[in-house]
Amino acid sequence: MLKSISCGALRDENVGEAVTLSGWVHRRRDHGNLIFIDLRDREGLVQVVFNPETAAKAHKIAEDLRNEWVVQVMGEVTKRPAGTENPDMPTGIVEVYADDLKVLNQSLTPPFYVNEEVSVDENLRLRYRYVDLRREGMKEALLARHKVVKYIRDFLDDVGFLEIETPILIKSTPEGARDHVVPSRLYPGSFYALPQSPQQLKQLLMVGGIEKYFQIARCFRDEDSRADRQPEFTQLDLEMSFVEQEDILQLTEELFTGLMTDLFPEKTIMRPFPRLTHEEAMRDYAIDRPDLRFDLKMADLAPIAKTVEFNVFQNVLDSGGIVKGFAAPGCSDYTRKQIDELTDFVRARGASGLIAIGISSSGNGADDLNMAGVKSNILRFLSEDHVKGFAKLTGAQNGDLVLMIAGEKSRTNQALGALRHEMGQRLQLGNPNEMAFALITDFPLFEWNSDDERWDASHHAFCMPKEGYIQYMDSDPGEVIAQSYDLICNGIEMASGSIRVHKRELQEKIFEVLGYSKEQVSDRFGQILDAFEYGAPPHGGIAPGIDRLLMVLLGKESIRDVIAFPKTQSQMDPLFGSPSAIDGSQLEELNIQLIPIEE
Ligand code: ASP
Repeated sequence: MLKSISCGALRDENVGEAVTLSGWVHRRRDHGNLIFIDLRDREGLVQVVFNPETAAKAHKIAEDLRNEWVVQVMGEVTKRPAGTENPDMPTGIVEVYADDLKVLNQSLTPPFYVNEEVSVDENLRLRYRYVDLRREGMKEALLARHKVVKYIRDFLDDVGFLEIETPILIKSTPEGARDHVVPSRLYPGSFYALPQSPQQLKQLLMVGGIEKYFQIARCFRDEDSRADRQPEFTQLDLEMSFVEQEDILQLTEELFTGLMTDLFPEKTIMRPFPRLTHEEAMRDYAIDRPDLRFDLKMADLAPIAKTVEFNVFQNVLDSGGIVKGFAAPGCSDYTRKQIDELTDFVRARGASGLIAIGISSSGNGADDLNMAGVKSNILRFLSEDHVKGFAKLTGAQNGDLVLMIAGEKSRTNQALGALRHEMGQRLQLGNPNEMAFALITDFPLFEWNSDDERWDASHHAFCMPKEGYIQYMDSDPGEVIAQSYDLICNGIEMASGSIRVHKRELQEKIFEVLGYSKEQVSDRFGQILDAFEYGAPPHGGIAPGIDRLLMVLLGKESIRDVIAFPKTQSQMDPLFGSPSAIDGSQLEELNIQLIPIEE
């Protein structure tokens, strides 16, 4: 090794040792006589001193050092002179007195500071990712990621899971996104698809008698990138045979509780994980992944709304819509401009408008309220009783702002759920040190796609209907509840899973409701349907997203900050410059001809 110990490892007890260090010049200070550098390696920094009296040659070389040069230092660990210790550095009590210095490699001036946590344009960071990875934030993220994955592997190994790799070149495995496809050279005109998840493969492993499988699996989905999406991302994919829903939920809870307690003891979690059915989550939070670090519960406001002579309420309620809202604490003095911002926010999410009622009377909320202090964009339609009624239903107190939306159910919920998160953020209601895990169960099996006028699978097509619900499959698919569940945390969906169908007939029925033709079914799902006829055991599983977990754990804005080499938001890789054109000869081999798209 070109080093005998790590820079960041040096402590008081190393004083007197002769050491060889290798690392990067983090910072250099020339004090005329003495030259100091902070030398950095993966484990941290240590101060190195070059004295012209005792090490003239090393001092001479040190004069030329620049940030990010790679050097090797031979020297002795000494105690820093009293008064010069640096309590901010773990190694701050010692320094290394250099005897010798070797430059292992020089560096151009880096495109951004490695030694300062300043914000840097993301494209530039990704273009020079190898420099960016040296910065503290990225290093911490990759270290945490390693620990999390190792914990998961050890935990699952202990309880009898086998880690098995599944192919990347496969065939379309729909999870609701577009496929990334790879042309085949040997079979011109034919393509592989990259797995959107190993869903069918893990089910086939269950048919294959594996019983407990997991994989740290890469999933590929061609969808528009968002802060928590990437064209390729990593899931802990797991599947078990001979289980019921409760078994998977308990395993998930134990895994995540253990992981948090062992690796992130400074974070708080709620134990046991709260459980909500999908229906309860939608009713109380208007979203199936509520941030449970704060309350902000929804109320059905129809009972009062229907007594208000305001056309919007009447029209919405007459056409089967809902009026629903919540109280934002302490926001009664929101200005017109702030309300307009929130209105734009909900409009962008499908609502046609936002109704706000600020309650700031001298009284004490609902029972003791006078209209003089009430502000609202529908004030002229409201009586004191109306305001009292809305305040009572939402639990609004003096100083609160009731926010409500009237409209078609699913769009109203969508906008309200997002608004709840937005208010939680604006009011900083979520404690950053809390990981509010919760389990959401009983998702509907199907959801109506009104654009295409057909049923889609809410999770995916392989979920087992809950007992007693199969009968609605023909008459009212929207009523069928599935044995499917999500793990959520701080407003993010962390994992989805389900007990699976394991019989051909039922699986075919589900494909039928989804509107697949016989040919489509046999082309896309023939293999799994066939497998179900060879003794498929009852089975189920779940797949937590590793990137998302780390993003939330480390308080990062985007999953790109916990992935070593991510793509940009627009799915480009600025480092390798992909995607990119390929050689004409490669295209020829693949029997592919590019046809220019006419503008
Ligand atoms: N394959 C599913 C997904 O990627 C997870 C599962 O049902 O296990 O969401």
